[in-house]
Amino acid sequence: MMVLVSSLAQAAAWMLESASIVALTGAGISTESGIPDFRGPQGVWTRDPKAERLSNIHHYMTDPEVRKLSWRGRLEHPAWTARPNAGHRALVELEQRGALRAVVTQNIDGLHQMAGHSPSMVVEVHGTMREVMCMRCGWRGPAGPVLDRVRAGEADPPCASCGGILKSATISFGQALIPEVIESAMQAVQEADLLLAVGTSLQVYPVAGLVPLAKSAGARVVIVNAEPTPFDHLADAVIHDPIGTVLPQICGTATGPDR
Ligand SMILES: [Zn+2]
Repeated sequence: MMVLVSSLAQAAAWMLESASIVALTGAGISTESGIPDFRGPQGVWTRDPKAERLSNIHHYMTDPEVRKLSWRGRLEHPAWTARPNAGHRALVELEQRGALRAVVTQNIDGLHQMAGHSPSMVVEVHGTMREVMCMRCGWRGPAGPVLDRVRAGEADPPCASCGGILKSATISFGQALIPEVIESAMQAVQEADLLLAVGTSLQVYPVAGLVPLAKSAGARVVIVNAEPTPFDHLADAVIHDPIGTVLPQICGTATGPDR
């Protein structure tokens, strides 16, 4: 039976040895920036299933009332005023020292890019709320101008080119993930020598499957999450301390927490 090494110093040493790290991030890395976790144990959707219904693609496409409420929700989303935190910035340090292969994120808030990653480093498996797309013609553009139309009184603004239904460029419930994006995440993980899973409960597939994939491809696995995950047993280290304090300690060039 494997003994779990639950030590920051051990994880930090492994991170320093690694040349091709993939960070896999979930809601937990953004809660410290003031963005609530929608699916976690205390999540908005967990406590209010009606809110989840609003995020279902079928209801969105068929019910104008759902679209109106969705646009209001987008206007008020905490991400518009959120700033990246120490956890996001620590991952940028990995890129700067050439040790990062990719950040694969379930988050739609764009905070990884805002923290300073090259855009090509960030794989957004659930899309981004910072863009809007047309569900009919496929037009895609920045969210700002469309949100301005909502503010100016268009409760459900149609596509300017074709009149189709516009939606945040995120993956809603009931909507398929984009195969090219998932493939790019899988490829990064297979080329990784260390997978750092941060702030994700690892309960949503196919993202959760990236952890055993990394392990079987020979990577070390380090999990940083407040709650236990279904993959803790195959991790080389599991750390439950707050992300904003752990990541600067294991991603920096210092060898441990005592720098
Ligand atoms: Zn269109």
